[in-house]
Amino acid sequence: MAAEKALALVVRGMDWSETSRIVTLFTREFGKLRALAKGGRRLKSNFDVAFDLLNVCQVVFLRKAHGGLDLLTEARAEERFPILRNDLHALYAGYYIAELLADGTQDYDPHPDLFDAALATLRGLGKNPSPQPPPRSGEGEQNQSHEATLAPPSLLGKGAGGLGLRDSARDAVISFELVWLRELGYSPRLDACSACGAEIGEPAASAAGVHSARVFFSPQAGGVLCPNCGPNAPDRRALTLPAWHALLGLEGLGPPAADVSGVRGELRGLFGQLVSFVLGRRPRLLSYLEDSR
Ligand SMILES: [Zn+2]
Repeated sequence: MAAEKALALVVRGMDWSETSRIVTLFTREFGKLRALAKGGRRLKSNFDVAFDLLNVCQVVFLRKAHGGLDLLTEARAEERFPILRNDLHALYAGYYIAELLADGTQDYDPHPDLFDAALATLRGLGKNPSPQPPPRSGEGEQNQSHEATLAPPSLLGKGAGGLGLRDSARDAVISFELVWLRELGYSPRLDACSACGAEIGEPAASAAGVHSARVFFSPQAGGVLCPNCGPNAPDRRALTLPAWHALLGLEGLGPPAADVSGVRGELRGLFGQLVSFVLGRRPRLLSYLEDSR
């Protein structure tokens, strides 16, 4: 067994005995790992503080060779997010992020960009969405430390002030979900038909006006669908044009939406369906994000 060091976000924890705890950590260096934090008077106090859910900590652990639990030998709390104790919407968002990291990623499959996005999202909860341009994940980020303040792409463009905590948290979650989907290989295709590749133009506004125009979207197909393929997708949903434009803006395929207040609920529904498809089940925390108005 080799001792390893990692920066970790605590995404799950359960008591194992009076003095021990099993924790699931999402680490920047190794991805997800599950480890036993054995009690012991000297260590216990350190571990107790460090392993609260959604704390960030530096850990040292012994890696088990055959799929057993790793063994934690040191932990030091590095960062915590006070907003989680003060605001219920932020707490739900945080729990949801923890669930996606714990259940959507594989053991020892590192995704440093996803780790950074999770921390940036947790840091930003309770604040208005960042107006910074969206960073694209990818190459050339070896020197990007965990202190990077890059936020996931913002749902809103500049001028998005005065959002309530709840809407702000919901927007932050959607931005995080986009990074999560991208890292897992499920970025939705938005500018061409996911089935036949046909370009998706502005659907002709019907006589009833632009608000009745729709674009087909199917999680199973992996994105938008053209008018020919759309009706054949069993899990299709109809996206309004403003929601489609907001998505294009989020993915850098169009200008950022100036105002998503009219489509926030619709986007929440779409991302809920998309994440549930990728996860193979509905996230437990999802209803807390969808709840109420
Ligand atoms: Zn098509």
